[in-house]
Amino acid sequence: MYVIDAPQQASLAVQGSNDRFPIRRIFCVGRNYAAHAREMGKDPDREAPFFFTKPADAAVDTPCTMAYPKLTEDLHHEIELVLAIGKGGSEIAQADVMDHIWGAAVGLDMTRRDLQGEAKNMGRPWDWGKAFDHSAPIGPIKPIAEVPSLENARIWLAVNGETRQDADIADLIWSVAEHVSILSHAMTLAPGDLVMTGTPAGVGAVVPGDVMTGGVDGIGTLEVTIGERA
Ligand code: MN
Repeated sequence: MYVIDAPQQASLAVQGSNDRFPIRRIFCVGRNYAAHAREMGKDPDREAPFFFTKPADAAVDTPCTMAYPKLTEDLHHEIELVLAIGKGGSEIAQADVMDHIWGAAVGLDMTRRDLQGEAKNMGRPWDWGKAFDHSAPIGPIKPIAEVPSLENARIWLAVNGETRQDADIADLIWSVAEHVSILSHAMTLAPGDLVMTGTPAGVGAVVPGDVMTGGVDGIGTLEVTIGERA
């Protein structure tokens, strides 16, 4: 018996099914597209990939309305390919990474850019910029057998119908096989883990009332409306 009610299991919808994908952790890759690294003032020349995390219940199904979060005046969109880990493992070889991926989706790594910038300047953790409530709206997960490619596909985001981010996952600095393998050398991956693989160039601010639509071709789409301030 638990001394309080057990926390609810975080989960996401699965395409073509009423079943749900249970979430354990959310790993995110920083600066994984060269043009985005440059727009953030960094040199993209293949420094080792780095990671940060969000809590499992940051993930929310789409379509949704997310409240404009507290403490920020600069909420940014980051459209990303999301991987759903179905089989755990440690020190996974690049050639074996696909055996561990249950499915894929499109998601948003929503970012309080002003708090992230403050954290960078002060040498503090990124959590307040990245790991806030409902900071990861994600579309339904597509089972990997139905995913045409994790190597080539258009990834895009529009705000109120105007395209802001438009790239191809072929432009990932660290491919899916590379960064999942590297991640598994730092942490033992477990079933239910998600990996948000980084965002292409074109990140920018959204405000209450904005409607974001995005997708990864062949994998899925999402729609998220920014609501009033929390
Ligand atoms: Mn990101």
